[in-house]
Amino acid sequence: MSLAHGRPYLAIPGPSVIPDAVLQAMHRPAPNIYEGALPEMVDTMIPDLRYVAQTSGHVGIYICNGHGMWEAALSNVVAEGEKVLVPATGRFGLGWADTAQAMGIEVELLEHDRQSAIDPERVHAALAADKAHRIKAVLAVHVDTSTSVRSDMTALRAVLDDLGHPALLMADCIASLACDEFRMDDWGVDVMISASQKGLMVPPGLGFVFFNDKAAEVRRAMPRVTRYWDWTQRANPEMFYQYFNGTAPTHHLYGLRVSLDMIKAEGMEAIWARHAALAGAIWVACDVWGSAGPLTLNIKDPGLRSHAVTALRLGAPHGKRLREWTAEQTGVTLGLGIGMSEPDDPNGTGFFRLGHMGHVSAHMILGLLGVLETGFAALDIPHAKGGVTAAAQVLAQASARG
Ligand SMILES: *Cc1c(COP(=O)(O)O)cnc(C)c1O
Repeated sequence: MSLAHGRPYLAIPGPSVIPDAVLQAMHRPAPNIYEGALPEMVDTMIPDLRYVAQTSGHVGIYICNGHGMWEAALSNVVAEGEKVLVPATGRFGLGWADTAQAMGIEVELLEHDRQSAIDPERVHAALAADKAHRIKAVLAVHVDTSTSVRSDMTALRAVLDDLGHPALLMADCIASLACDEFRMDDWGVDVMISASQKGLMVPPGLGFVFFNDKAAEVRRAMPRVTRYWDWTQRANPEMFYQYFNGTAPTHHLYGLRVSLDMIKAEGMEAIWARHAALAGAIWVACDVWGSAGPLTLNIKDPGLRSHAVTALRLGAPHGKRLREWTAEQTGVTLGLGIGMSEPDDPNGTGFFRLGHMGHVSAHMILGLLGVLETGFAALDIPHAKGGVTAAAQVLAQASARG
């Protein structure tokens, strides 16, 4: 028997759950792209995007996914033959490094293991050794979605300031924006990239770059930037089409307008607090289950865990079995483990991830945890009972704090 019929729940770390209001806003005939409501609506989004990123800086919007934003951001500030430093904490840091390499950029890679945040001391040593200031940017993933680790951007800013090193601090907030606390200006991040399909609750297809005046100056000194990736006109369009260097992503924009309204209505602080509380409930449930079984959280220190995604280790082949069981029997799709093992490693089936980014409530998380506990029982995966009860207690306490 399957118990999966009903509304499905995609509990993977992106694309995330799309609110009905966003879907409904997108369900409409093609609009006029020359004048009227659509161009006016896009003008209203720029300040709201700044609010989400906590910046007064510049905003560029692209039609592309997160991989595109890696290339977009680099294209504007790092030329072929120039150098970047990449302290990589998982698959996504390595992906950004790979994009840079393919652009002919020299990459100094500081590989971390799959269970640690960026080590500011290693970054300090690498930048201190760069006496000639050849390193033009530090590429830091805020939350690496493969390991679910969150790195401290303020510590990296402090390293750059301490050394008086002029490199740009560039942050990938594709997984974390509008989930984990992020304050671009206060934290001294020069360039930040994100995308629509995670905390912003819109289907994949829009990318965002935020940059400050220092980064704009670096852009101006670039020998050449290809037209599509150039952020200059996108951030300062004289004509509407220049926002997107071509036809506007019409329906995504209607969806984004609604998601930004939802974000403003809830407020960034409340959004961060909600994600923190829901993540805390997940962690406590996992701790209980793992106290008498193989389940462990990939990141040991709760202070380094993302509030948007949780990477878990269950041991092969249980991760795969659990994912298949929840999808077939309960209508819940869990995230694959990625970048935790080599592709031919049989232990690779032991990992899975939970996405809890964006449009997620207590009832969704309690449902997700209930499904996991049911799956452990159904599949005879050793675990201690009581994970859901412990999570409920955490959420009761969080709601009592107001
Ligand atoms: C999802 C993600 C990406 C890649 O985004 P795509 O839209 O899949 O190209 C990059 N970095 C991080 C941190 C992500 O979470």
